[in-house]
Amino acid sequence: MAQLITTLGPKHADELGLILPHEHVFVDLRTWDQPGYAQAEIADVVALMAPEITKAQAVGVTALVECSTVGVGRRPDILKAVSEATGFPLVVSTGVYREPWIPDWIQAASEAELRDWMTGELLDEIRPDGVKAGWIKLSAGDDGLTECEAKALRAAAAAGVTTNAIIGSHTIRGRVVRDQLKIIEGAGYSPERFIWIHTQAEPDFDLHVEIARRGAWIEYDAIGSNQLSDDFFVERIQRVLEAGLGDHLLLSHDRGWYDPALPGGGTPKPFTYLSEYFLPKLRQAGVDEPMIRQLTQSNPFRAFAR
Ligand SMILES: [Zn+2]
Repeated sequence: MAQLITTLGPKHADELGLILPHEHVFVDLRTWDQPGYAQAEIADVVALMAPEITKAQAVGVTALVECSTVGVGRRPDILKAVSEATGFPLVVSTGVYREPWIPDWIQAASEAELRDWMTGELLDEIRPDGVKAGWIKLSAGDDGLTECEAKALRAAAAAGVTTNAIIGSHTIRGRVVRDQLKIIEGAGYSPERFIWIHTQAEPDFDLHVEIARRGAWIEYDAIGSNQLSDDFFVERIQRVLEAGLGDHLLLSHDRGWYDPALPGGGTPKPFTYLSEYFLPKLRQAGVDEPMIRQLTQSNPFRAFAR
């Protein structure tokens, strides 16, 4: 039976409720070669982020997928400590962000080496932190994949064939997702094991439908942001549901986090907006309770469990 692989071990669907599929506990958006990159005292991160997790738990969030990958400060040891302090499971990624955040060792690695690295982190653990990766996070340049990004995607698809892990990619343009799905299919993996992260950034809604019809997940993950209103997301979600694609949609905030580039880690944004403010608006717009549960519980479980 499929399980969500978390910092607190594997979880079955009946142990979980609402899952946020795209959030961050710890991110460093300075590049890997900058002084101080990804450095912080574990206790400081726990002190800042544990209260945010506790608030999320209080409004029914039962797990969240941590989307910080190699290149933007992935720290499995910190995530594990935050989980253990709160009793709250986090899903940690293997994989790498886009250029110019890709470290030298990944630039230099062969496709087979990257495949073996990802597969090892998914089936065994992320060394030396003792955390198993739950999924593969990648990213694409806005105008198309660079050679290295394409190599990482081919490696991820090959690792997916072995592990059934979902591949999520930060991809701003829908036409780049088309290229990504072609690569995944070429490697013998399925579009159904791909998430188009940040789908809302693509203004052409027809592309959202096209990609979901091909079997991939689309993800509206800026709910509660300053740029896009709740009304915008309610309208988009209703159109996805009208197209009969409610079983291909994920919802999240893309919020948090402890930022080591800021004094004291900065001020995190709460993980509670969806539950407290957005879902009531979605209900008011006529989305019924079984569909709300599908969007916030069964869909994220089905996407990330393996
Ligand atoms: Zn993110």
